[in-house]
Amino acid sequence: MSDCLFCRIVEGAIPAERVYEDEKVIAFKDINPVAPVHILVIPREHVATLNEADEENEALLGHLFVAAARIAKREGFEEDGYRCVVNCNRDALQTVFHVHLHLLAGRRMGWTPA
Ligand code: 5GP
Ligand code: ZN
Repeated sequence: MSDCLFCRIVEGAIPAERVYEDEKVIAFKDINPVAPVHILVIPREHVATLNEADEENEALLGHLFVAAARIAKREGFEEDGYRCVVNCNRDALQTVFHVHLHLLAGRRMGWTPA
């Protein structure tokens, strides 16, 4: 989808600081980090929101979490811990309509985000 910001990042048309990629997903640093580590893990395939996800996307969406854990191990914060967040639609403040997992780490967090 040429009008989707994150599809443009997948294509390489818009630059991003990539930290991980494989055949299904890419991960890059958030442009406006809210924690010392703030990485977005996104599927290469365009899925707008979790509402569009169906059984066909199950493995793909599961892979977002597998990739997040891989990045945590690679970057060395898996023991200290991290948070994975997926926002869906207006009430959750989703602003980019290409499913993404926020991987947050590097400081003790508060609860709850709501
Ligand atoms: P959402 O609010 O949709 O869950 O999260 C979208 C995230 O994308 C935000 O944290 C925002 O800072 C990030 N973002 C928006 N535009 C860009 C961009 O052009 N590059 C990068 N690296 N992150 C972006
Ligand atoms: Zn997209």
